[in-house]
Amino acid sequence: ERLSNDFQFVEVGRVDPAKVPAKKRKKEFGEIYQPFKPDDASTQAHRCLACGNPYCEWKCPVHNYIPNWLKLVSEGNILKAAELCHQTNSLPEVCGRVCPQDRLCEGACTLNDGFGAVTIGSVEKYITDTAFALGWKPDMSNVQWSDKKVAVIGAGPAGLGCADVLVRNGVKPVVFDRYPEIGGLLTFGIPEFKLEKSVMSRRRQVFEEMGVEFRLSTEIGKDVMLEDIIDEYDAVFMGMGTYNYMKGGFPGEDLPGVYDALPFLISNVNRRLGFEKSADEFIDMKGKRVVVLGGGDTAMDCNRTSIRQQASSVTCAYRRDEGNMPGSRREVANAKEEGVKFLFNRQPIAIIGEDQVEGVKVVQTRLGEPDENGRQRPEVVPGSEEVIPADAVLVAFGFRPSPADWFGDLGVKTDDSGRVTAPEAGEFAFQTNNPKIFAGGDMVRGSDLVVTAIWEGREAAKAMLDYLDV
Ligand code: FAD
Ligand code: SF4
Repeated sequence: ERLSNDFQFVEVGRVDPAKVPAKKRKKEFGEIYQPFKPDDASTQAHRCLACGNPYCEWKCPVHNYIPNWLKLVSEGNILKAAELCHQTNSLPEVCGRVCPQDRLCEGACTLNDGFGAVTIGSVEKYITDTAFALGWKPDMSNVQWSDKKVAVIGAGPAGLGCADVLVRNGVKPVVFDRYPEIGGLLTFGIPEFKLEKSVMSRRRQVFEEMGVEFRLSTEIGKDVMLEDIIDEYDAVFMGMGTYNYMKGGFPGEDLPGVYDALPFLISNVNRRLGFEKSADEFIDMKGKRVVVLGGGDTAMDCNRTSIRQQASSVTCAYRRDEGNMPGSRREVANAKEEGVKFLFNRQPIAIIGEDQVEGVKVVQTRLGEPDENGRQRPEVVPGSEEVIPADAVLVAFGFRPSPADWFGDLGVKTDDSGRVTAPEAGEFAFQTNNPKIFAGGDMVRGSDLVVTAIWEGREAAKAMLDYLDV
């Protein structure tokens, strides 16, 4: 069914929810986007053309029913929209906040061609936040409970996506995580200015009321052995992420004052959430000249956390040009507004200093021939060496898989790069070589996105229901 005013998008432009001004948000950690006002949400949702063959849905990794819930929002039917959102996505309020929409749903919106894409992400966040505020909860009244129970290792988006589908189908999930709070990188990685921590604690309460059990501060392989879990549960899902930090392989990376990105971000979260065990754990950028190496989401989060910790300057050096940055354009723009200085086409070749980092030696690069992935390979410009002075350096080159040494004993195979083998196209999707163990998220696909981890967790859960014959 077409919406009544087909050409509304000509008169009503795209309007994003208001942002806290850069001057103010540089000093605080809270989310920078204000909530939509109800009228604005429905007006913006009404811009949707209700395309017969919606590209946005196809591009969204969980294939959300986007035009359908946009229509419900334009009609003010938030509770029904929330029901529909949850049919395909376990954490819509999180995806609405952190998906790189410009590369996914909104990038594929027909209106993106000149008129401004529909604000799909902000509406998705609005739907769930508003529904929760109205007291909405997932309806579990028709669930027929089976006697099956599944252990989920990892309370990140993959594990939570899996637990959500299992519990809605009457299979009891028990979710183990070594951290004291659920969320994985949503809590201990992505900073509050993108995703406030109360969003995950609210979701934890919802999951617990649905029947998901969390056993936190419990490391599998140390506090509890997976062998014991395999005996006790009918099946296991592993969503343990990727936690080996990539190194640059140049001199000086071990100098005091050089930090990997994730420990820095985690130390900030631990201080803010009161999980810090001792004050020395905190990596403090106050008054320092900080240089961040890398150009992805993690680098942007390091830049903007350093700004909020009152670094005296923050410079981000990236080896390709701006158009080739892997992260979300929106977050690069936000970082620039907050005062991060970008040096594009700079490749680090050494970190220099005597007993403490003093600077980063870089060379300029220009883009050469495309590599096997079609991305242009950076080439060094001769004689272009320079030193960027620094009191602290944050290395954000990404993550490699971190398979546990006990995987092999349990028959869980990994590929050459350490990713767990759990093919989507197998008899049971995302089943590992041990038939009782399924896996998904970053540990299977390599470091990627929240929404793809959710999708894999959900698809694995559906396959586990078949496997368990529920
Ligand atoms: P994780 O989120 O890593 O969760 C794995 C969980 O398993 C963790 O909680 C861990 O503690 C637990 N675990 C591991 N081993 C054990 C064990 N032995 N016992 C018990 N528990 C264990 N993606 C986006 O879409 N948008 C963004 O803006 C974005 N920003 C990012 C910023 C940063 C700084 C980082 C690091 C990543 C970002 N990502 C972003 C990527 C995204 O966070 C990940 O792709 C996603 O979280 C992967 O989900 P996962 O469930 O596979 O793993
Ligand atoms: Fe867009 Fe992500 Fe929501 Fe899909 S889950 S509609 S890609 S914001």
